[in-house]
Amino acid sequence: MPRLSEGSSIADRRTLAARSVIRYSRGMAETIFLKIIAGEIPCHKIYEDDQVFAFLDIGPLSSGHTLLIPKEPAETLDQLSDESAAALGRMLPRLSRAVLKASGATAFNVLQNNGASAHQAVMHVHFHIIPRFPDSAEGAGLGIEWPAGTLDNETGQRLAADITAALAEE
Ligand code: 5GP
Repeated sequence: MPRLSEGSSIADRRTLAARSVIRYSRGMAETIFLKIIAGEIPCHKIYEDDQVFAFLDIGPLSSGHTLLIPKEPAETLDQLSDESAAALGRMLPRLSRAVLKASGATAFNVLQNNGASAHQAVMHVHFHIIPRFPDSAEGAGLGIEWPAGTLDNETGQRLAADITAALAEE
C-alpha cells in the first residue's frame, strides 16, 4: 500500500483512502452506518467524499434532520483520528448552510452523542444537524432540558487545571 507524504499524488491518496475504508469495515463490528456507507442499506444520501458521508436521519426530529458521519468507524468522538475530525469540521458549516437553505429554518442544533448513557444509539460517530422550528407543534426540532448548576471559583480552578494537564498529555 502506498504511504502518504507531502508529494503523494492524488491517485495515491485516493487508493489509500479507499483501502482504509475496506480495512476499517473488516476490523470493526458492523454498525448500521457502516452498512449505509457501503451501500448495503439504502439511505437518502446527501454527500460523500473520501472521509465523510451525509444522509437524512430516518427518524427526524424536524424536516431536514441530517446526519454527518466519518467513514472511519470510531465509536465515539474521543476515539476519532485528527484527519477524520478535520474532515468533519470542514464539512459541518457547509452542510449546515445547505440544510438551512433547503429546510427554510433559520436556527438549528448540532448534536453529537457519545456513549449509551448519553443517548448514543448507533455506535459510530455521528453529528446530527437538526433544523429548529420553534412554532411547530410537531417536528419542532431538538427539545433541550438544561439543568444548569453553578461553578464556584475553587472548583473552576481545579477542573481547568486538571483538564489542562490532561490535554498536555494528548
Ligand atoms: P444517536 O441517538 O445514536 O445520536 O442517533 C442515531 C440516529 O440514527 C437516530 O436519530 C436514528 O433515527 C438514526 N438512524 C438509526 N438507524 C438509521 C438508519 O438505518 N437509517 C438512517 N437514515 N438513520 C438511522
